[in-house]
Amino acid sequence: MPNATLVINAGSSSIKFAGYVHNGSTDEPSLLGKGQIEGIGTHPHFIVKDNDGNVAGEHHWPEGDQLNHTGGLRFLIDWIQQNAEDVKVTAAGHRVVHGGLTYSGPTRINAEVMANLEKLVPLAPLHQPHNLAAIRALQEVDPHLPQVACFDTAFHRTQPAVASMFALPRSFTERGVRRYGFHGLSYEYIARRLPDFAPEASRVVVAHLGSGASMCAIKDGRSVETTMGFTALDGLPMGTRTGVLDPGVLLYCIQTLGMDATALEKMLYHDSGLLGVSGISNDMRDLITSDDPRAAEAVDLFVYHIAKQTAALSAALQGIDALVFTAGIGENSVPVRERVCNHLEWLGIRLDAQANAARGPRISTPDSPVSTWVIPTDEERMIAIHTAQTLDQ
Ligand code: ADP
Repeated sequence: MPNATLVINAGSSSIKFAGYVHNGSTDEPSLLGKGQIEGIGTHPHFIVKDNDGNVAGEHHWPEGDQLNHTGGLRFLIDWIQQNAEDVKVTAAGHRVVHGGLTYSGPTRINAEVMANLEKLVPLAPLHQPHNLAAIRALQEVDPHLPQVACFDTAFHRTQPAVASMFALPRSFTERGVRRYGFHGLSYEYIARRLPDFAPEASRVVVAHLGSGASMCAIKDGRSVETTMGFTALDGLPMGTRTGVLDPGVLLYCIQTLGMDATALEKMLYHDSGLLGVSGISNDMRDLITSDDPRAAEAVDLFVYHIAKQTAALSAALQGIDALVFTAGIGENSVPVRERVCNHLEWLGIRLDAQANAARGPRISTPDSPVSTWVIPTDEERMIAIHTAQTLDQ
């Protein structure tokens, strides 16, 4: 019976999951299926799709059902036992947003690790508690199942001090107020795949453009700089988050507008970005097809910041050999890629419009000094690989 790894990415009201089997000696796992339980706390809904994207199972709970994360995970484990009798779940790998300075790689979970991760909750209060809740819930459902934490911050631990410090008094830095960076599992996956596409590329900028968006400078496979910092708010404007903001704006909001921390959090995380600027939607598809000038302005702002950050990250790398687009917008939006590349022609990016329309993978002309790519990311697969490797050690 093949051994399977269950990959879990838990949020406040949803649990995304995927199952992989490992093929003996090779470390490239095969996807069995993926799905999610969403609407936890309101109107829970379970759906799982097989490797070909066909619905393999679905379940609706009545509205207002008291299903919590533990109940959801118990349902998932039962579903696997009943519907995939030919596999045995032998490990679970979790996406955990924050590993602080301690964890520079995936880590098998035990009581000490959990206590350390708990201390990091104040650094990621919107995500870390849900990630840890899912680990605890799975411990309750299956106490003997080995679990591994894979961190969004870990890939960036190779960055030099100059990239990770704020110009704050040292006491703040010593308390952990520094730039950590996120989306590390996505960048690590791209760094792992890139040699198949561009084996010569040493200095690479990756644009992870999803509803959360960031960019990373990778030198010979290691992160040297990234646009997200202490939290996942910094850097590019995102679906509903501000991206980079003069901290004086926050003082103004507090001192002049009388806003408190709750109101600021809502503004910074939920009401800003593409949604805030357009007043229409946080979804790039809606903005591209809209003829409202505010939608065009939101897209302009997004493109402008990506181009500007590409130049800044190229400075960190002392040049650029390759640019990679990934995640929802990066993989799917032909016009966003086109506009970013055209803005960066001066940097040596020559777009091949036909290849861009066909989604690459190479979207730059053969003579382009900087090769440019569309490479789909796969954070779940990265977690499955890490989990198997961590438990093999
Ligand atoms: P998340 O950060 O939630 O994991 P994804 O990487 O899946 O997000 O990206 C989601 C975003 O991708 C959506 O908000 C949408 O704006 C964008 N997106 C998906 N498909 C397209 C498309 N065809 N064109 C433009 N944007 C798209």
